[in-house]
Amino acid sequence: MKLLIMGPPGVGKGTQAQGIAAHYGVPAISTGDMFRANVREQTPLGLEVARIMAEGSYVPDEVTDAIVADRLAQPDTASGWLLDGYPRTVGQVAALDRLLAASGGAIDAVISLTGDVDHLVGRLLNRAAIEGRADDNEATIRRRMEVYADATDPLLAIYRDRGLLREVDGLGGIDEVSARIVAALAPALPA
Ligand code: AMP
Repeated sequence: MKLLIMGPPGVGKGTQAQGIAAHYGVPAISTGDMFRANVREQTPLGLEVARIMAEGSYVPDEVTDAIVADRLAQPDTASGWLLDGYPRTVGQVAALDRLLAASGGAIDAVISLTGDVDHLVGRLLNRAAIEGRADDNEATIRRRMEVYADATDPLLAIYRDRGLLREVDGLGGIDEVSARIVAALAPALPA
């Protein structure tokens, strides 16, 4: 089972990815988490991407495509995966298509979590204040929203054209949103 989950910053994508992946018994693979771990451990990759992430921009495709290809070659992905935060650009869609073509696999469905931008900005500011995350100021958060809309909206169109897109309202309680996702996936997958 191969799933993608997309959604603007603050919509609860990471939380839902964990729950949905556990539900279907596949690993949730988050490029953001992989990059953050590298930044924390100050690896060469981490040093390369730290500034890009802090300003809310995207890590270059070739760097991102390489870490995903590497991760999808690990044995725990044999029964499938849920990719959280990848692909995020048209170039990454093409890279993932090539990877899947090489392994004979195909994406089963693409979950798009939706939410009102102003509501999401408020939610992220609140979280930044609680967690003392100085990098999450309003300018950075708005920039991440813009980057998301500019780069990722075309991806939604691509997957909609392929008949894979499942749009789900991301606002609400965690369990409520999870149930919506499972229901939206039901036509493509066994519950
Ligand atoms: P996320 O936790 O998914 O919001 O990702 C946090 C940050 O990691 C993003 O703002 C980007 O700087 C970087 N990042 C994560 N996934 C990607 C991707 N697929 N392409 C480029 N940059 C990414």
